[in-house]
Amino acid sequence: MIFTVAIDGPAAAGKGTISKAVAAHFGFAHLDTGLLYRAVGAKVLAGGEPVAVARALDPVDLEDDSLRTPAVAQAASEVAVIADVRSALVDFQRKFAARDGGAVLDGRDIGTVICPDAAVKLFVTASAECRADRRYKELSGKGLDVTSEQVLADVRERDARDSSRATAPLIAADDAVIIDTSDLTIDAAVARAVAVVEAAKRAVG
Ligand code: C5P
Repeated sequence: MIFTVAIDGPAAAGKGTISKAVAAHFGFAHLDTGLLYRAVGAKVLAGGEPVAVARALDPVDLEDDSLRTPAVAQAASEVAVIADVRSALVDFQRKFAARDGGAVLDGRDIGTVICPDAAVKLFVTASAECRADRRYKELSGKGLDVTSEQVLADVRERDARDSSRATAPLIAADDAVIIDTSDLTIDAAVARAVAVVEAAKRAVG
């Protein structure tokens, strides 16, 4: 059974949490596509050439805890502007989406570019302040030396770059269901996403 759930949205809106929970609930595989761009960004920070690095990316490159730092996030959003970097990563994502047994992919352009025919499209968002506050708690909880002002500026800068780029900008697909998590608990946001997927599954039988 091929059943793709596309979950897009800006940084720290809750996509990752919702994606993992939806995948676990339905027994689907999950791909955090941000990790692809982060892995390329990390290799570029280490001196690599973006397009060459993207073409040579290996799935084991995604299993690296250091990909979660703000510096790598910024580098990821810078390489994500390059059209040839994006096209080098398309096949891997589409193959993942088409795997037997169902797949959840989260990112910025899954419902618009990677899987325009996904069975379910969600666009998970929240106010910039709310997302920065969550990201600040996450990063400072891991012991990283960040201020809430820095994190908010970082979120705004990435939002602006991700939304304004020419290739595959961050935008909700016309047929996406919008979930604004600003005033939702994690459980409520997950329940809403699960209900949308459940309804789509029933519809395809
Ligand atoms: O989701 P995450 O914050 O890990 O993504 C890091 C960066 O990678 C984003 O700011 C965005 O620029 C880029 N990205 C993208 N397309 C995706 C996933 C992530 O451009 N599908």
